[in-house]
Amino acid sequence: SFPECVVENGIASSNVTRKTVDLKEKEPLTPRDWSVDSWRGKPAKQLPTYPSQEEVEKVVSYIKHLPPLVQAEEAKLLRYRLAEVCRGRGFVLQGGDCAESLEESTDGVRDTVRALFKMAMILMWGSLEPVVKIGRIGGQFAKPRSDDWEEQDGQRLPCYRGDIVNGAPFDLASRTPDPKRMLAAYQHSAATTNLVRALASGGFADLRNVKSWGMDWASKTEKGKAYLDTAERIEEAVRFWETCGVSSQDPIIYSTEVYTSHEALLLPYEEALCRRDPLTGDMYATSGAFIWIGERTRDLDGAHVEFARGVANPIGVKVGAGMQVDELLRLCDVLNPRNEMGRLTLITRMGSKNLASKLPQLVRALKKEGRHVVWITDAMHGNTYKTSSGVKTRSWNHILEEVRDFFAVHQAEGTRAGGVHFEMTGKEVTECVGGMIDLKAESLSKRYESLCDPRLNLSQSLELAFEIAEILKK
Ligand code: PEP
Ligand code: MN
Repeated sequence: SFPECVVENGIASSNVTRKTVDLKEKEPLTPRDWSVDSWRGKPAKQLPTYPSQEEVEKVVSYIKHLPPLVQAEEAKLLRYRLAEVCRGRGFVLQGGDCAESLEESTDGVRDTVRALFKMAMILMWGSLEPVVKIGRIGGQFAKPRSDDWEEQDGQRLPCYRGDIVNGAPFDLASRTPDPKRMLAAYQHSAATTNLVRALASGGFADLRNVKSWGMDWASKTEKGKAYLDTAERIEEAVRFWETCGVSSQDPIIYSTEVYTSHEALLLPYEEALCRRDPLTGDMYATSGAFIWIGERTRDLDGAHVEFARGVANPIGVKVGAGMQVDELLRLCDVLNPRNEMGRLTLITRMGSKNLASKLPQLVRALKKEGRHVVWITDAMHGNTYKTSSGVKTRSWNHILEEVRDFFAVHQAEGTRAGGVHFEMTGKEVTECVGGMIDLKAESLSKRYESLCDPRLNLSQSLELAFEIAEILKK
């Protein structure tokens, strides 16, 4: 689905658009006043307190000698894809678990990637544009938390901070941060990234596989029948290409690109996986192709922003409802001083109640200042609530509402809605309420498996993709 790409002077460019790619850049992207450990001089939020700092440094110095999980070239290529989205070509789909599990099975990874492929097909059908697929996968192990402590039945323990830090079970041994988990996370990320690459390039993404949509849930309603109709039309288009003689071995039919991403939260681990690109001299976070800074750690003077500003990966920043125009402009200055397309993605997560009133001023200000960013919407994190029995959930309707408002704001401001970001899985879990399957609060306990936030299940994800495709069509 993408034009053939070459990587030239360390900048990915495409045969089709090479003329428009700015190759005059020779200044390194990594600033001179930055180093892999300069974050250590800044206040760092959300880092665990380990029993032994010595043990941490031992693990970290070991990881420093391990192979990178992604190559600089992959990060560059994604930067280029995102620059294309910035220029008005393409749409981003970022999705996956809130928190990956060290116990995740091959099937689990495969199901999530398959769900992403299906969603991407539907979005491509709607937009008639390439879809840049980014998984919250292959390293999404560290979690920021609102509370440092958790209390259950009178017992108080450190909160769960993701499998790279401690264990989810509510006992002291599990909850005590263990630096050796960084090694386990590295290994699991390596295996997962390898599997994702194999799935993307080895025929699993074959367009002819779309026949198994798994959409029994849709046949019961008129709206669902319309979705099935769209699915049928996508299949028809693929059959037509085949009839025209497009070889089934053609990469366009057979393979695709999926990039890995995670929140760059656990800085000692991120630092240990920084590698210099021999071609450009730039530093890359090789823990994943795309990394982002979370809503809780995006302080301008904080350690996480300091770390991210020096790596040349495409990076994201979460933008909550409290973000001020000045603050956002300064974040752009610090994280993308050269105002390069593809470098910075802003991931709004304002909630369906806030987005329509809070986003316009930010979009307008950046447009006025000529800042190049990709705007995508995380329609999950502003919509979390607890049911009357205390279960953390999100409503499918709120999620769709926030996505709709996101498109409406960009339409009104004359800017581009560049993509969507979801916590989702390919399994039929019961974590978010609503959707055509009409999942009720009472049913959430049936299959609630998330280690952290509630995810859309497969049917809820596909249904959302069909709705977004409708918006993109207009
Ligand atoms: C997340 O993406 O899982 C997350 C914690 O998001 P945010 O930083 O936006 O709260
Ligand atoms: Mn989350």
